[in-house]
Amino acid sequence: ATPTALLVGTGRGAQLGILIRGPEALERTRTVDTVVLDKTGTVTEGRMTLTDVVVADGEDRAEVLLLTGAVERASEHPIGRAIADAGRSALPVEEFSALPGLGVQGRVAGKTVVAGRPSLVVERWGHLTPVLERALAEAGSIGATAVVGGWEGMARGVLVVTDTVKPSSAQAVRDLKALGLSPILLTGDHPSVGEAVAAEVGIDSVIAGVLPEGKVDVIRDLQRRGRVVAMVGDGVNDAAALAQADLGISMGTGSDAAIEASDLTLVRGDLCGAADAIRLSRCTLSIIK
Ligand code: ADP
Ligand code: MG
Repeated sequence: ATPTALLVGTGRGAQLGILIRGPEALERTRTVDTVVLDKTGTVTEGRMTLTDVVVADGEDRAEVLLLTGAVERASEHPIGRAIADAGRSALPVEEFSALPGLGVQGRVAGKTVVAGRPSLVVERWGHLTPVLERALAEAGSIGATAVVGGWEGMARGVLVVTDTVKPSSAQAVRDLKALGLSPILLTGDHPSVGEAVAAEVGIDSVIAGVLPEGKVDVIRDLQRRGRVVAMVGDGVNDAAALAQADLGISMGTGSDAAIEASDLTLVRGDLCGAADAIRLSRCTLSIIK
């Protein structure tokens, strides 16, 4: 491709709200045959709200919200923000740590409080009570994310958070399919949540329950099988996968780490931009052949 044509393509991209980091990025865009989409913040809004709190027998709902809300205040994850907003806790937190893709923990009111994915709590403290198990199953059946909260060696409650799919995500998936690409949904969330979101937007393939480090391996695996992979993501957790992908596409609404690791940025955070970019690269580069 001639430099002029690539520059024109880059300029046209900017008009469409697509920032293209250098002409080679546009050339690489054309060869992509597989598109991996992060769920939270990419396909969905990533603005979660707490919709339900279910507590184990003998536990106090307000206390569960107060203590988990306190640790989540220090979290940057949308799940954490939802729980912190609902908890409105002013209790100080010590020894906070974020466990990427798993949850958070910290000392609140003299207790070691944990909030995170169910498997994290089960691994540490053993099985959940039937009441909490039922709450997990119910959350899964409606495609909501269940967070287990507890302290001092016991799971105390299930906090249910829901996210909404972006209005343009279904159209974006149709656009990608029309370009001959079948998108894959990649998420750290539970498979039931991944499947629900995928069904809502028309994605046929889901890889769920993946830890942040695992996202890179998923991309590498696809590449080993000969695929030329575009990864679309927004989170700090997605940065390594964006860098590994043949083409990293970040959401302009996402984290700085994701934007820095990517080749293209969709300024408005609209997933339709991913299909626009691929269409643009194909047009620009076929004209000049
Ligand atoms: P995604 O890939 O969908 O963006 P993440 O990798 O960020 O998801 O998180 C994966 C899972 O880890 C979440 O579904 C949740 O169960 C758990 N998790 C992550 N951060 C938190 C948090 N701050 N509080 C509770 N749970 C969390
Ligand atoms: Mg995300």
